Amino acid sequence: MSAGGSTGGSRRGPRGAFGGARRKPWASGARGLQGVLAEWERSGVFRNVALDHTAPPRPAKTAPIPEALPEGVRQALTAKGVEELYAHQARALELGRAGRSFVVATPTASGKSLCYNLPILETLAAEPDARALYLFPTKALARDQEEALKALLREAGLPHGAITFDGDTPGDARRVAKERSGVLLSNPDMLHAGILPHHTGWARFFANLRYVVLDELHTYRGVFGSHLANVVRRLKRIAAFHGASPTFVGASATIGNPGEHAERILGEPVEVLAESGAPTGPRRVLVYNPPVVNEDLGIRASYLKTAVRLTADLVKAGVPTLVFGQSRNGVEVMLKYLRDRLRGEPGLGDEAIHAYRGGYLPKQRRAIEASLRSGDIRCVVATNALELGIDIGSLDAVVCAGYPGTLAGTWQRFGRAGRRESPSLGVLVTSSAPLDQYVAREPGRLVDAPVEEARIDPDNVEILVQHLKCAAFELPFEEGDRFGDLPVESLEEALGFLTHHGVVHPTAGADGRQVWHWATDAYPANGVSLRSVGWDNFVIIDLDTDQTIAEMDWRSTHTMLHEQAIYQHAAEQYQVERLDYENHKAYVRRVKPDYYTTAMTHTKVTVLEEDQGAVLPLQKPLAVGLGEVTVVSKVVGYKKIKFHTHENVGYGDVHLPEMQMHTTAFWLTFPEALIQSFALREGVQRAAVVDALRGLLDAMHVLAAMGLMVDPRDLGKTLEDQQDPAAGRGPGAEAARGFDATLFLYDRVPGGIGLAPRIFDEREALLRRTRASIQGCDCGSGCPACIGPDVGVDMEGMRSVPRKALVLRLLDAVGLPQVH
Ligand SMILES: [Zn+2]
Repeated sequence: MSAGGSTGGSRRGPRGAFGGARRKPWASGARGLQGVLAEWERSGVFRNVALDHTAPPRPAKTAPIPEALPEGVRQALTAKGVEELYAHQARALELGRAGRSFVVATPTASGKSLCYNLPILETLAAEPDARALYLFPTKALARDQEEALKALLREAGLPHGAITFDGDTPGDARRVAKERSGVLLSNPDMLHAGILPHHTGWARFFANLRYVVLDELHTYRGVFGSHLANVVRRLKRIAAFHGASPTFVGASATIGNPGEHAERILGEPVEVLAESGAPTGPRRVLVYNPPVVNEDLGIRASYLKTAVRLTADLVKAGVPTLVFGQSRNGVEVMLKYLRDRLRGEPGLGDEAIHAYRGGYLPKQRRAIEASLRSGDIRCVVATNALELGIDIGSLDAVVCAGYPGTLAGTWQRFGRAGRRESPSLGVLVTSSAPLDQYVAREPGRLVDAPVEEARIDPDNVEILVQHLKCAAFELPFEEGDRFGDLPVESLEEALGFLTHHGVVHPTAGADGRQVWHWATDAYPANGVSLRSVGWDNFVIIDLDTDQTIAEMDWRSTHTMLHEQAIYQHAAEQYQVERLDYENHKAYVRRVKPDYYTTAMTHTKVTVLEEDQGAVLPLQKPLAVGLGEVTVVSKVVGYKKIKFHTHENVGYGDVHLPEMQMHTTAFWLTFPEALIQSFALREGVQRAAVVDALRGLLDAMHVLAAMGLMVDPRDLGKTLEDQQDPAAGRGPGAEAARGFDATLFLYDRVPGGIGLAPRIFDEREALLRRTRASIQGCDCGSGCPACIGPDVGVDMEGMRSVPRKALVLRLLDAVGLPQVH
């Protein structure tokens, strides 16, 4: 395309990449969203648009405020400007009054919080001693809601306070929280380790507990969700002990299975409120696929730079815009480019454009949120930290640089744009990555396909046993007791296991029933972390000022804070001079490099135990397996990437400990004899065949993630080949797999969440779909959208057969036929 007039070749960016200086800046006439869209039409931006879809506006569906609502609560609504309720809010009130648990799964900005606040306010007005517990996945969200809730209680004339109880709550406030507060805001981790084990001190709170609210329910997936479900089992048990049976209310962003997910977490039936009665304006959604700039390698123009240009157009035209990047590095790079580009525009100095991401300290985040609401900030570049419902006021446009990995995630991001009935815009700029290109090829899926489901496994034995210990510490188990919806046999089996290990001690109770008492001195909750990534962050200290500038979680530290890494923060660059791994401190110094760094990770999968094996019924039988594996990841080095050109300008080594995880994997083995004879027949080296297998794995990984409707980042992939010099030589792997090249797809959360077994069940269909997808790709010899580009291994004999042809011929050779 020729985005700005001139079409001739320039020094960089052949064939009119959407980037570089050739595009004319906007005439000052283009104001507002419609102006930008019209200008994009004129200048040819739409030539690269794969999807242009407008979701029609939706009128409000309302219901009158019920007469029976207490006067104070009515006044609080009036003070907020609420004159009638949306239909889903009215239904929520009815359900709450009937004591029925429910989950609200309506879009962003549809008045979800009123769905739980309203029945709770009504209850508090009628019963002064009533209590409610609100749980949020992060401390920041709880603090955010505390203010709003306090105001609401005040306006309703209710004496009940609202207080956040987390690790930062001071001692005297803790006493108030326990004894007097009507609404307690906290997080699952605090409930688990700070409240439930001390429930006797909270007797009054639990005895009067009428409601439990679980906000952002969609974030409790995988291991975290499985833990939460067990914390809820413990909570119900403690509440019952104190004589209460609270109503549970969940609130979730769009996911495919809100009801099922809520029922798994709560262990009881819930009603789903999925239809929003809130009005929305027309939402236009564009998928922009940057043009191919290198036909041979299938490389497209930079999606980051494209996202920056589109955003700059919007911001210059006065459209408040939110930009989402895929990683912290991506966010910082875009922030720098945007500031560079917009500097000098009236009102668009550096202060008008900010980044917002997880690593920022709370007070930096609060300041950014406030400036966004006040309009001093015109553009925010964010990671998914903003997906959580933090209050940032209204924005008109959202630009996603790269596909967020799931349809649900994409709509959650687009949902940040749009105020009431005014039009809004969501733009997805696709990268060259396979999944992005899959979306660009079939963009209709964005609108039509079902969104992903959230999955948990509360009965995962590893997790369950930990919580049974905590539960036994909190209250002895008696024969016939239940633990949520866990089958009685499983409960008794687990208690038998704990008895055997001396953790609980069975005795005969007064009425002859068996009672299991906690039998050790240790205090179990402290040893159990609800999140696979610990809370214990690393702090980042600026050596020049001796100030802490940010924090980072343990896992990210490995890739972002190794020594010599360029750590980017608020568009400044720092170099990590020293990483004190023991004490969780990284010492950095301000630098002005012309590059940033990205880490290179080596992953090794070792089979511990095969649970199931099978043979694919093809002409050349291929063995597949399902079982437990260890995944060891280690950051081995880093690359220096030059700003703007994104050239690779150097490498360095990294020496950090390994990260280890036990999980479940699916594997597919190609026998050495097959590889050898195929290489011979094709006249290529063995390495070329293994390289083709890597391409096959890349394609299988994407297709598996799509088929499972999960974020591909939840599914790990690796190829183990004992003859590959890049691979390690774990004794377990050799014993189990011999020397045969093996493709692994594994659950990327410790213990697994059931992805690998589903791949095992669908193995044949998956392989056939993979073949169809590779064959159907438009490229010649392989591209990032299918099996990766045909580069990377320069060995003699490699070039005789292009990579893609080799993959397809290999599939022919095993008898996986061509698809017509
Ligand atoms: Zn391709």
